[in-house]
Amino acid sequence: MSANKPPFWKSKTLEKMSENEWESLCDGCGLCCLHKLEDEQTEDVSYTNVACRLLNINTCRCNQYTKRKKLVPDCVILKPKDVQKFKWLPPTCAYRLISEGKDLYPWHPLLSGSSQTVINAGISISGKVISERNAGDLQDHIIDFHELSSEADHE
Ligand code: SF4
Ligand code: SF4
Repeated sequence: MSANKPPFWKSKTLEKMSENEWESLCDGCGLCCLHKLEDEQTEDVSYTNVACRLLNINTCRCNQYTKRKKLVPDCVILKPKDVQKFKWLPPTCAYRLISEGKDLYPWHPLLSGSSQTVINAGISISGKVISERNAGDLQDHIIDFHELSSEADHE
């Protein structure tokens, strides 16, 4: 990165980013791979502590990233046009931050150089969730979002 040139996330809109830039913007927190339940009347979304069956709940990486949509039809492949529509994206999500004109947090791997900082900052779901392979009724797993992510510190 040149000293005079701003990094891509400060100089480009989400729509203008290359595929590699777009992919690198994900901090790997895993929050979007948790099952969520929506109240049909209020449209409020509740997080559960149950992760998609393809998520490695320690590394928070998808085990079948390139085939994800085929294997999990409900998997949401995030596109720039959807970022502002998806109110359930966590406030720390890098896509959301950039779409709101904000900067990345210092723990983001693009700044820290390590995915471990996302865990250390309490943002990642690593070690806090179970796989849907071991979960029963999702209703029994609704969880306060603050138990999943130290989001309150990042508003
Ligand atoms: S919530 Fe955002 S930053 Fe976190 S894993 Fe999902 S897309 Fe990536
Ligand atoms: S298929 Fe992969 S990317 Fe999609 S929700 Fe599941 S773990 Fe996440």
